[in-house]
Amino acid sequence: MNNFVVPAPPIVALPIVGSSEHFPVRRVYCVGRNYAAHAREMGFDPTRDPPFFFAKPADAVIPAHHGETRQIRYPSKSTNYQYEVELVAAIGRPAYKVSTEQALDIIFGYAVGLDMTRRDLQLALRDKGRPWELGKAFDESAPCGPIYSVAQHGHPASGGIWLQVDGADRQRSDITHLIWSVAEIVSNLSQYFRLVPGDIVFTGTPEGVGPVTPGQIMSAGIDGLGSITIAVAADE
Ligand code: MN
Repeated sequence: MNNFVVPAPPIVALPIVGSSEHFPVRRVYCVGRNYAAHAREMGFDPTRDPPFFFAKPADAVIPAHHGETRQIRYPSKSTNYQYEVELVAAIGRPAYKVSTEQALDIIFGYAVGLDMTRRDLQLALRDKGRPWELGKAFDESAPCGPIYSVAQHGHPASGGIWLQVDGADRQRSDITHLIWSVAEIVSNLSQYFRLVPGDIVFTGTPEGVGPVTPGQIMSAGIDGLGSITIAVAADE
């Protein structure tokens, strides 16, 4: 169909390692407080209460290629703009009300992503019981690296997850410290939504979150999933 009254928005596409094909992004789901040490630093006791979710628009995703420095802009209306490095799972098959045992079968692949956050707004909204969109779902808030397909690389069961700012360690943990596993997250999410190919899930960040300012450069990676480099530019 091409008879739209305004230009149709482009499809956000993530590159796939070892392939010339791309992964089209439909929805972006994110899990909150999924590493115990991060839950504590945010002022909560870690629990095995069911995971909770929020979402970002697909066009918040900024594809970041290996070996390149991708630029994102500091967001408006914030003075506390923070990074969260996360394991991202990309859904490759339709899934509705799947069990934990079935959940891994629907995953196409994995990537490293950043859940960028206006922390000042997120906390203010949280404390008032309001939705988190202004703090979480803003433009350019989801840089994401290339996808490593399960077919070629399998499911990452363990491995370091880290983020540096200007070469200094800020976050360093291991994905074995996830409170809810990827399979548990996808199973739980699929009780609420009909997941389809193109959906991606940010699975939560480990401890060490903190602010960045214009001019700083973030590098973030997960063992086996490469790393991405993101430069913060001024809000223009
Ligand atoms: Mn997060």
